[in-house]
Amino acid sequence: APTHNGLDARKRPTISFEFFPPKTEEMERNLWGTVTRLAPLDPSFVSVTYGAGGSTRERTHSTIARILSETRLRPAAHLTCVGAPRGEIDEIVSRYRDIGVRHIVALRGDPPGGIGTAYSTHPEGYRTSADLVAGIKRRHGDIEISVSAYPEKHPESPDIDTDIDMLKAKVDAGATRAITQVFFDNDLYLRYLDRVRARGIDIPIVPGIMPMHNFKQARAFVTKAGTTVPAWLAEKFEGLDEDPETRKLIAATVAAGQVQKLAKRGVDTFHFYTMNRADLVFAICHLLGIRPDADQKAA
Ligand code: FAD
Repeated sequence: APTHNGLDARKRPTISFEFFPPKTEEMERNLWGTVTRLAPLDPSFVSVTYGAGGSTRERTHSTIARILSETRLRPAAHLTCVGAPRGEIDEIVSRYRDIGVRHIVALRGDPPGGIGTAYSTHPEGYRTSADLVAGIKRRHGDIEISVSAYPEKHPESPDIDTDIDMLKAKVDAGATRAITQVFFDNDLYLRYLDRVRARGIDIPIVPGIMPMHNFKQARAFVTKAGTTVPAWLAEKFEGLDEDPETRKLIAATVAAGQVQKLAKRGVDTFHFYTMNRADLVFAICHLLGIRPDADQKAA
């Protein structure tokens, strides 16, 4: 039956959470607090990012291993083509498979010189994200593969159609889910979805939702990656640079509004960029009608 928030109570949205590998013991404790708080929401998977240039290779692995050994969550490991020959990448995937991982988020990765510099492939590396997807699928048919999608196109793509060509290549290589780059204008996502469907791509294109804990920092970060930060959004955070408490309330309101509007348009799957923080994501999931699962809580 429809609930007060317009959602069908029987059709709970599907959710997933993204974390980054912690650098220090304090960050590790913090991440673990977050994982413990969010796990009872029963996400369909949780993913752990892979640092630029492969810089977190070992930390991504140990974070994934800990999730597997201490929770019932299904982890997905991010992996990029950057800075390593194919053999090394294949080795990383095999190690993951050996410990029980069955889901990889396969990416090309940013240029080794940083966003904005020219991308160069490792001489013996996977050339594109689609190559990486095909390489994993060839060796491990039972590994599920998610990839990226760009509602505002990737900064390196000349136009949106070329960008969707790349998505199509990744799907043809075996990807079965795409997670979008963060966006704040829902119409951009919905229009992109129409174009993707018109190209015959039928895999889920899961919206990536980022609650902006620290607006200024987040804006700089997402703008670099090609996301437009609308003026109406910047205005909501105006004058709050020294007021993190109010910023947090605003960030929750904005992200909650965004997911509820998407849900009304029929979107039933969300991926949250948690930034390793639980509170806003927990509240937003609550508004989506998602409640802790007693079994998971006990686990
Ligand atoms: P791709 O889909 O491979 O390419 C993006 C676009 O670039 C294409 O659409 C195409 O137009 C153009 N392009 C790329 N290669 C070619 C080519 N050979 N010829 C012509 N055009 C080309 N980065 C990390 O380092 N670690 C992570 O864990 C990580 N996780 C991410 C998770 C998500 C959900 C998203 C959206 C991004 C993530 N990124 C991560 C960032 C990503 O690595 C960068 O955006 C990178 O620049 C592109 O990699 P990709 O696989 O997303 O792009």
